[in-house]
Amino acid sequence: MACTAEGVAAAVRAAAAVVAEHRAELIDLDRAIGDGDHGENMNRGFAAVVAALDAAPPDTPGGVLKLVATTLISKVGGAAGPLYGTAFLRASAKLGPAAELDVPALLDALRAGLEGVQARGKAVGGDATMVDALIPAVAAAEKTAGDGGDVAAVLTAAADAADTGAQSTVDLIPRKGRASYLGERAVGHLDPGARSSALLLRAFAEAAR
Ligand code: ADP
Ligand code: MG
Repeated sequence: MACTAEGVAAAVRAAAAVVAEHRAELIDLDRAIGDGDHGENMNRGFAAVVAALDAAPPDTPGGVLKLVATTLISKVGGAAGPLYGTAFLRASAKLGPAAELDVPALLDALRAGLEGVQARGKAVGGDATMVDALIPAVAAAEKTAGDGGDVAAVLTAAADAADTGAQSTVDLIPRKGRASYLGERAVGHLDPGARSSALLLRAFAEAAR
């Protein structure tokens, strides 16, 4: 199954709903090792994305992701806005003007999103950031696509791996972002951005089913 612009927009709306549901959880996670704004940042950003989709729905999957990117970059403060914004912008550039998103395009978009986060934030695996959710997510997506999985299966594998990867940040010493100021005192805490990345991928996977 390939996804049209409408399908991708529905997935983004589902992600906005999940972010709203988990706003308080993300705030609590960020309060423990950061400044407590991650849930509010993400919720404000995705609410603005939904408003932008309502106002002018794009007619390609790439157009939808570009709207997500530009909205997050302009509405979300902190580290996460520019990082997610760059991820969606690079993903949208990969999709180009294609009318449908198929498995190869999805893999390109996921890889480009991760590359965007790493180009912008310079985090590597093990730094206890969203990258620790995204690296295993992309690897799992590639494997499932190689096994012949469809868009929903690929996204479900990515979401499963992102959950496990996010959980791994609990045992890591943060080396990037605000949590790095705490050093070893941050050990024992789940990284909020890794959690939000896993939530977004889960929402996309559920929407694709
Ligand atoms: P801020 O830290 O500016 O308050 P947020 O609270 O919105 O921004 O986002 C924090 C999250 O951003 C962290 O949990 C982490 O996952 C992610 N993050 C911060 N810095 C980086 C970085 N350099 N590379 C990748 N992710 C990062
Ligand atoms: Mg914060």
